[in-house]
Amino acid sequence: MNAPQFDVIIVGAGFGGIGASVQLKKMGYENILILDREDDLGGTWHVNHYPGLAVDIPSPTYSYWFEPNPYWSRLYAPGTELKQYANHVADKYDIRRHMRFNAVVNGARWDEDALAWVVALADGETLTARFLITATGYLSQPRTPDIPGIDEFAGKIIHSTAWDDGYDPGGRRIAMIGTGATAVQLIPELTKTAAELTVYQRTPIHVVPKMDFSIPVFIRRMFARLPLIQRAFRWVTDANLEVMMILSVLNFKYFRHLNVAAAKLSSALRFVSIRDEELRRKLTPTYDFGCKRPTYSNSYYRTFTKPHVHLQTAGIDRIEPDGIVALDGTKTEIDTLVLATGFDLWEANIPAIEIIGRDARNLGKWWRDNGFQAYQGVSIPFFPNLLSLAGPYASSGLSFFSTVEYQMRHMDRLFDEVLRRDATTFEVTAEANSRFRERMSKMLGKTVFGRGNCAGSRSYYFSPSGETLVRPASTHQTNSEQDNFPLSDYSIA
Ligand code: NAP
Repeated sequence: MNAPQFDVIIVGAGFGGIGASVQLKKMGYENILILDREDDLGGTWHVNHYPGLAVDIPSPTYSYWFEPNPYWSRLYAPGTELKQYANHVADKYDIRRHMRFNAVVNGARWDEDALAWVVALADGETLTARFLITATGYLSQPRTPDIPGIDEFAGKIIHSTAWDDGYDPGGRRIAMIGTGATAVQLIPELTKTAAELTVYQRTPIHVVPKMDFSIPVFIRRMFARLPLIQRAFRWVTDANLEVMMILSVLNFKYFRHLNVAAAKLSSALRFVSIRDEELRRKLTPTYDFGCKRPTYSNSYYRTFTKPHVHLQTAGIDRIEPDGIVALDGTKTEIDTLVLATGFDLWEANIPAIEIIGRDARNLGKWWRDNGFQAYQGVSIPFFPNLLSLAGPYASSGLSFFSTVEYQMRHMDRLFDEVLRRDATTFEVTAEANSRFRERMSKMLGKTVFGRGNCAGSRSYYFSPSGETLVRPASTHQTNSEQDNFPLSDYSIA
């Protein structure tokens, strides 16, 4: 029987896939292939380039611990700098040569005889690998709403993930559907020159003030020369986020008043930004702070007071070739429809490709029939030699990099044992998986997701069957579990 072509195939060349390859290369794996459907690396930071795009986790924290970047221009760096950072890491760690772009993966199937994954590309090619890592991120399958008439719209439609850089909003009559984190960044930008902007809001979002500032060049130089000072700065931004996570997300049961205070801060921001009480009421969420991802902006609420910006909350009845008709009968004529409608997460992204494991078990179907579950957020019984990096209970802490780094630790311990035993396969035991799942669902009980008033939040944090993306544990606890999980939780052969 032929040996597989690759030791490891990684699907996704974003920060998750880059982190996984850095870890594997550190352990001596060189025969790695990284596949990505886009034409360059960077994942979400390659795909998204809409006006106003910036990170909303402080940049020192939103980066790999092993590769600090002293050159962030702001506390919340613009999206272009994240893309540059991804390029820098891929080059420095010699990852780029493992990447193949414009490679759409349709699915992967475990071959029990060959003890290898067979990965099928959309162009008909098949590739084989001993190990498969899906690093497809959570926010990678854009959602296009199924609103009656949308296909007959005669103007321009732009989804935020496919921004047309040549599009000039100047003088346009624009409708935007959605009021998530993307819309909060886009709306103030578009209204600078648009003739009219009507925002169709279904669920209001909690927005709190953004304490952003530019980092002076001399400070950046100092960070480059004296990395310990930057480490100290990062310690502050890390600690700040972690305390927020531990108190108001994980221990909502005891610290509910902090969420109430955050909601009041958001309310105060509305109060100082908007005089019209009715407008403020429409923008006020009815669910607890933290059920759904809140965001930061100093200009979002104020933008709605401009005479050419309108908030429509009646719901959308249909789209006609020249406009949108709301459920209250109001028709708004437009020439551009901007979809800031987010992502099909539980529906289409978990998993993002069809994965068939041992005994022909289909991961997507199995999760839907039995509940979303993955040991330590990454391993699933009946799926040998697979690590799924964007699964249930995989999102650790508030920065995506906390997730990437705990998963690198997990790989470190797991692959170290595989190499030590000169083994061919690993598979998490059903017992270890159930134990982990029970523990996570019990821990959810104390969190804002378990205790808060989340009805009506339409939060993508929750699966339809009640699991969360978010691991209900501190990053410290999560990291230390990766260094210490019992190796007997896996069958390694
Ligand atoms: P999102 O948070 O899922 O928001 C999508 C919006 O579209 C929601 O307001 C949703 O309303 C609305 N929507 C979807 N389908 C609709 C329909 N059929 N009719 C009416 N409204 C509809 O997506 P996002 O804003 O793109 O943000 C996704 C995530 O990306 C964020 O939570 C964040 O994690 C990340 N992000 C980060 C940054 C950053 O770091 N700077 C920036 C942007 C995004 P409902 O709420 O009612 O469903």
